[in-house]
This record gives sequence, C-alpha cells and structure tokens, in this order.
Amino acid sequence: MERKTILTGDRPTGQLHLGHYVGSLKNRVRFQDEYRCFFIIADLHMLTTKPTKNDIEAIADNARAITLDYLSCGIDPAKSTIYLQSAVPEIFELDLYFEMLVTVPRLQRVPSLKDMAQNAGIEEMPLGLLGYPVLQAADILLPRAHLVPVGKDNESHVEVAREIAKRFNFLYGEVFPVPEVLVGDVPTLVGTDGKAKMSKSLGNAILLSDDAKTVEKKVRGMYTDPNRVSADIPGTVEGNPVFAYHEIFNPNKAEVEDLKARYRTGKVGDVEVKEKLAQALNAFLDPFRERREKASQKSGWSDEVIWDGVQAMRAEARQTLQEVRKAMGISSVWNRISRKAEDSRKKREKTAQP
Ligand code: ATP
Ligand code: MG
Repeated sequence: MERKTILTGDRPTGQLHLGHYVGSLKNRVRFQDEYRCFFIIADLHMLTTKPTKNDIEAIADNARAITLDYLSCGIDPAKSTIYLQSAVPEIFELDLYFEMLVTVPRLQRVPSLKDMAQNAGIEEMPLGLLGYPVLQAADILLPRAHLVPVGKDNESHVEVAREIAKRFNFLYGEVFPVPEVLVGDVPTLVGTDGKAKMSKSLGNAILLSDDAKTVEKKVRGMYTDPNRVSADIPGTVEGNPVFAYHEIFNPNKAEVEDLKARYRTGKVGDVEVKEKLAQALNAFLDPFRERREKASQKSGWSDEVIWDGVQAMRAEARQTLQEVRKAMGISSVWNRISRKAEDSRKKREKTAQP
C-alpha cells in the first residue's frame, strides 16, 4: 500500500519552543518513517500579520534557525521534505481556486484569527488574514496530505481545509483526501508566565535552542502559586505551570509525586521544585543540543535542505495542479483555445503565402 502523507509547519517568526515540540514536532518525529512528510516554513502566512520589509528581511535567518530546530528534534531531512512556502508558486494558484469554495461568514467564525489580529495590533481584518485558513488548506492539500499534526489553536483551521477538500471533490471529482487533524498529547502548553499559551511573541517561552543556564534562569523566574509567600504555606499544584511542566517533562514520576505532596502541605520551597524542574528540562533538552551541535558545524547545511525541499515540493505541486486544472476543466479550456489558436495561425499563414 502506498504511504500516506503528512503536512504541517511553522511560521518563520522566530525560534521554536517546547510548546511547538509537544503540540506538533513530537508527532512529526514519531511518524516520519511511516508517512511521506512535508514540513512547510510558512512565510506567506507570516505576511498575514507581519508584512513589512524588515519582517521579510528576517525570513532567511528564521528559516535557517527553524531548520536547525527541526533537526535538533530528530527530524531527518533525508526522510522529510522541508521547504519555503513562498518559493512554491503553485500554492498561490491553489489558494485562489479554494477562495471560491468558502464563504466570508464561515471564515469570520474561525476563533484564532481575531486573536491573531489583536496580538498583532491590527484593528481591521486584512483580507489575507481572513484567508489564513484558506491558504493553509492550499498548503495541506497541495501534497494531498492525509494527516496534519498541529497544536490545539490550529484545529479550527484544519476543519476549514476539510470542508474545502469535500467541496472541491463534490464539485469537480475526487482529487483530495479529507485530511485528519492530529493534536499532540499536550494540546496547548502553558507559558512560563502562567498565561494560556507558550508563544514566541509573548516572551514566555523556553526555546529548544536555550542553553542550560538560560533554562535555569527562565525556570527560576516562572510563575507559581502567588499566594505562597513562604515555603511553609500549603500551595496549589493544579494550574501551577511549574507542576504542569514537571508532569510533562520530568520522567521521574516518584519525584514529581513527592514534590506535589510536599508542596500541598507546605513542606517544600519553590526553589527546590524549580531546581528539579530545570534539571529535568535540561536532561530533556540535552539530546536536542547534541544533534544541533553536529548540524551547525556544517555551514550552509540548512540552506541546502530548504532548497532541495523546494525542488521536491514543486515537483509534487505541479502534479497536483495538473490534476486540479483537469478536474475543474480549466486545462480543457486552455487546450481548446490553444488548439484553435494554432489552427487559425496555420490557416492564416497558408492563405498569406503567394
Ligand atoms: P507563537 O504564537 O509562539 O508566535 P506560533 O503560534 O506563531 O508561535 P506557529 O508557527 O503558528 O507558531 O505554530 C506552529 C505549530 O506549533 C502549530 O501547529 C501550533 O498549533 C503549535 N503550537 C504553537 N504554540 C504552541 C503551544 N504553546 N502549545 C502547543 N502547540 C503549540
Ligand atoms: Mg500560531
């Protein structure tokens, strides 16, 4: 049986963090042998909230950094195609066809778009930002993906892609699989400040590329139970981001249970709980650091990965677009006109001969 396909990716707006890992990257590593994998560095999606020349200037460096982040997680470019979205022009064409298959009120109901506009300080919704999920549908369906590993905030976008795939297939015939969403074990990782989402733009993130000292410092500054002004006051574990991270990243379950019990009864200081967390996080990140170190020794390596990926994706994209135009009848229109044009030119040339 032919292998199924995964598509997912990240916007080149900065370096990747633990939230990206638990939400999406972990599943990518897990499935890279089983599926054909396409990982998109979504710079066109970045333009929906960051369209300035400075933002665009930063794409190359951010794309390189993200490629290194991928590698540090264990994503293998020999198995997976990593590519830059804007360098695959077929995406623009598919996006435009898809725009006809979804309504404005439907997109206005996508919850994340308003948050994104607000976070970016945008007052009135740009057409491109409203169309974010449509462009994402084009990303997903261009390699005809079956599975989309993303964090919780992206679930509603994949729903739009599913509706577009069904609508396309209904109007023009079966071209696309209806993609399934795969949300990570931790659908949304809380930020170090206790805010709902760890985010590169909110300054509450532990980066996959942070060194041990930086991790220690960030953990020391983490938000915990604010009512606990001294170590002998019973503290709250539920909703406390320090314990949330312990649960996720500390493999020593006995240690976590012991810390929780002592925290609840006022028998452990925040300092100890945080020191143990920093140790656990650093042990978790050590293998990432080793893989990153190896890759960063080869300069130009990430550029090669991205540009090879663009060629591979374009080959894939040309095939899909051919099928799309054929199913829609667009290529037949082109053929009829071009054949007629050819005939009439030949006739004219004949009659013009002396
Ligand atoms: P940020 O908001 O921090 O700037 P982002 O949301 O822009 O980051 P994207 O490139 O939009 O990052 O998302 C990449 C993937 O990582 C998406 O699948 C998204 O759902 C997931 N993701 C991002 N942050 C988290 C988080 N805190 N917890 C779980 N998944 C996350
Ligand atoms: Mg996002």
